[in-house]
Amino acid sequence: MNRVKCLIIGSGPAGYTAAIYASRANLEPVLIEGPQLGGQLTTTTEVENFPGYPEGVEPFQMMDDMKRQAERFGTKYVSGIVTKVDFSTSPKKVWVEDTEEYEADAVIIATGASAKYLGIESERTYRGRGVSACATCDGFFYRKKTVAVVGGGDTACEEANYLAGLCEKVYMIVRKPYLRASEIMQQRVLNNPKIEVLFEHNTLCLTGEGKVQGADLVYRKGEPDEAVKHIDIDGFFLAIGHHPNTDLFKEFINRDAEGYIIVDGDSPRTNVPGVFAAGDCADPHYRQAIVAAGSGAKAAIEADKYIKSL
Ligand code: NDP
Repeated sequence: MNRVKCLIIGSGPAGYTAAIYASRANLEPVLIEGPQLGGQLTTTTEVENFPGYPEGVEPFQMMDDMKRQAERFGTKYVSGIVTKVDFSTSPKKVWVEDTEEYEADAVIIATGASAKYLGIESERTYRGRGVSACATCDGFFYRKKTVAVVGGGDTACEEANYLAGLCEKVYMIVRKPYLRASEIMQQRVLNNPKIEVLFEHNTLCLTGEGKVQGADLVYRKGEPDEAVKHIDIDGFFLAIGHHPNTDLFKEFINRDAEGYIIVDGDSPRTNVPGVFAAGDCADPHYRQAIVAAGSGAKAAIEADKYIKSL
């Protein structure tokens, strides 16, 4: 069993920022890195909107900078996945890979969120064989090919633009008659000759022999002009949002209907004293690296106050 003052779960901007603050406050934090080192940000191409990087920065570089910054003040890292928690006692108990047990005075949950899928059968059939939720990770395999991106938000636009730099053609499958993305991202998509936006289309199924070779779409389902359309594609990229990685905590921590951790107003306090939530796992609205980092700082400050009050 390992006894620590402050345990941080998650290695995205929230987790690392919490670690920087907690280690500078002498809480000697241990950070469990989880399944995706560096968090969701590492699935993007370039970070252009994090203050301090006027020329933009590669996400892996930025996350490594944060990690080293926290390490400098004494943060210890554990690679592994948290499989069980018990927040009914004080100190709180956390198990990594079911075997390694930690007891902590304070726990900061910074587990982020994961990509959503449409839930259609063929999406599962072709997972890893043409279906992906990360253009930066998998786009390379589709050089000079034709792909589709589902979604109309900032992520979808960013992924479509990125893929247009590699692929012959990119379809965007958008269920509404407009894009939800910010104006600048919309313009980049609409002005890119390689991207064709299919507004008011939904995906019925994917087709192909052993790998994705096409998709059947429906235009304006339920309307008098409803029509089915087939597109030939080699890759199908999901960019329809995320769900928070909080199931592990549901027995102890209050969450909203979508699974986001409910915090006490502007603070990172959860319903369990000594357990704090930071970043996308508790943020259904902003979901930005800079916001996650800010909430990580708040969580560490609150954890410090809590530990001193024990
Ligand atoms: P969003 O929730 O903003 O957008 C999701 C998109 O997917 C919407 O167009 C939505 O359609 C569509 N969608 C959802 N479910 C389905 C479905 N079942 N079938 C078809 N389409 C579906 O998620 P994002 O990941 O794009 O963005 C999340 C947050 O992160 C936002 O706040 C965004 O601004 C931010 N972000 C910022 C970036 C930046 O600034 N560089 C980059 C990426 C993200 P509908 O509109 O109809 O609901």
